[in-house]
Amino acid sequence: MLAEPTEAEWAAAVAAVRAVPADGRILLICHVNPDGDALGSMLGFAHGLLRLGLDRLQATFPGPPEVPEPFRGLPGLELLVPADRVDPAPDLVVCFDAASESRLGTLVDRLDTAGTSIVLDHHASNTRFGGINLVDPHAAATSVVVEQLLDRLGVPLDVRIAECLYVALATDTGSFRFDVTTPAVHQMAARLLATGLRPGDISRRIFDTRPFGAVRLYGDVLTRARYEPEAARGLGLAWTYATRDDLTRYDQRPYVLEPLIDSIRCTAEADVSCVVKQVGDDEWAVSMRSKGGVDVSRVAVALGGGGHRLAAGFTGRGGADDVVAAIRAELDGAVINP
Ligand code: 5GP
Ligand code: MN
Repeated sequence: MLAEPTEAEWAAAVAAVRAVPADGRILLICHVNPDGDALGSMLGFAHGLLRLGLDRLQATFPGPPEVPEPFRGLPGLELLVPADRVDPAPDLVVCFDAASESRLGTLVDRLDTAGTSIVLDHHASNTRFGGINLVDPHAAATSVVVEQLLDRLGVPLDVRIAECLYVALATDTGSFRFDVTTPAVHQMAARLLATGLRPGDISRRIFDTRPFGAVRLYGDVLTRARYEPEAARGLGLAWTYATRDDLTRYDQRPYVLEPLIDSIRCTAEADVSCVVKQVGDDEWAVSMRSKGGVDVSRVAVALGGGGHRLAAGFTGRGGADDVVAAIRAELDGAVINP
């Protein structure tokens, strides 16, 4: 199951891109609520296609067409088109960092209307929903797959491609801190940096900048954090929630809550952490993390979502307490290292 793409799959993807005529239309889609890997992989590939002379390009993601502030410096944002205005039937569609069709929201029909579809991803839970699937569960980020495909297409790295792929790689490795940070990851980072990137500027923009209102909002949300030592067969759970009222009170946009999980998962006493973020009247976006005792992707998949062993998520319904109760009920069965 955890296999890298085969040579036949790489060849099929290369052939599918090469088959697009110079005036052919290409649509790039990344997952809803895009993170650095989704946006960076998509825009990095877009720059590569431009280098191949394929310039009838649209890039998009489902939902509100708002790019989170940390990513507003990425080169290529001018290619973004709101989801309700993208090409209804492109020649080629390429999807990035989406583990399943549900992550494409209203854009899922393009898989059928496009001439060909390619899925680029690194989630073990990927459902292989494309015509051609380049899914590498060992890759630290989708951008690792993108770099390989660009290489096979004969596109050399330039500083624009590199900045996008670096943001993606840094995002999914937690700034080169997580266990996915293999020698190959550092070798890729070295290739990207060699194009002349300024990693200090990029990291400050992506990870270390937030509005003062968000700093104070974090105060409120962290004050209500809970620690449950008995959860996950005694491995422990730390969690909190943030409502739309919290955002309104400090005049903040939802994306400011993305790094909130990092302020919860540092809890020494708990293996598992989660943050429950209100996105609708009774709808919550859930982020979960584990330090290795629990496979949180099992919890996420059981509750309709997906992700990786140590980082996963899903959309929950009801109140915040209902969502956490559903997680608690799945945790015991997801313990892999008691
Ligand atoms: P995050 O907590 O950073 O939003 O997401 C962690 C991981 O879980 C990511 O790999 C992401 O793709 C996955 N994930 C988060 N939310 C969902 C969801 O609603 N559905 C699916 N399938 N995966 C999700
Ligand atoms: Mn990713």
